[in-house]
Amino acid sequence: MITFVKNQFILMKLVFATNNLNKLKEVQEMLTNSIELLSLKDINCFDEIDETETTLEGNAKLKANYITNKFNYNCFTDDTGLEVEILDGKPGVYSARFAGEPSNSEKNIQKLLSELKNKTNRKAQFRTAICLNLNDKQFIFEGICKGEILTKKQGEKGFGYDPIFKPEGYNISFSEMTSEEKNKISHRGIAIQKLVEFLKNYKQK
Ligand code: IMP
Repeated sequence: MITFVKNQFILMKLVFATNNLNKLKEVQEMLTNSIELLSLKDINCFDEIDETETTLEGNAKLKANYITNKFNYNCFTDDTGLEVEILDGKPGVYSARFAGEPSNSEKNIQKLLSELKNKTNRKAQFRTAICLNLNDKQFIFEGICKGEILTKKQGEKGFGYDPIFKPEGYNISFSEMTSEEKNKISHRGIAIQKLVEFLKNYKQK
């Protein structure tokens, strides 16, 4: 269906399963005018979608399928985890609730620092899985940012584990970067870039 918004023709409406308007604006600016992104609020979705799967991809699919099935929209979702090598990939899919629920970033950081106390191997990576449901097909995009876990917090910006994550090739933590710097190299930024490239080349049948 073709609709017109502010004199631009929109070929497709696509739900980004988020209520974070900054994230939404950032992705909208990377897309062509022929795709209009909608937030969960835009489609009147106020449901709590429980992330009950055991992988990032599983949770991304679960959320995307929920939106597509209940609201009948093409949509994409993202799920991210911090995978620490010496902890066999933990906290991974449980990154948000590593120190229990309700999720608390400070407690998560302290738990991770304590589990890595005196450990020399501090290699870790952030990994984002994006699931896109588009016209009855499903596509997965992945973004990885490798780095290491610092021994103490550094910097004030960002969220989650940012103060203790130092990306490969840098001497500063994610928390010491501007959001523009971080987005260029981050797991989420890389996964989103892959999604955007895919959508730019996508031909509607
Ligand atoms: P979500 O899937 O984007 O909600 O991410 C799950 C959890 O991973 C968050 O609650 C954070 O603890 C952590 N996380 C995700 N992305 C980042 C990031 O870019 N920096 C730091 N922590 C993150």
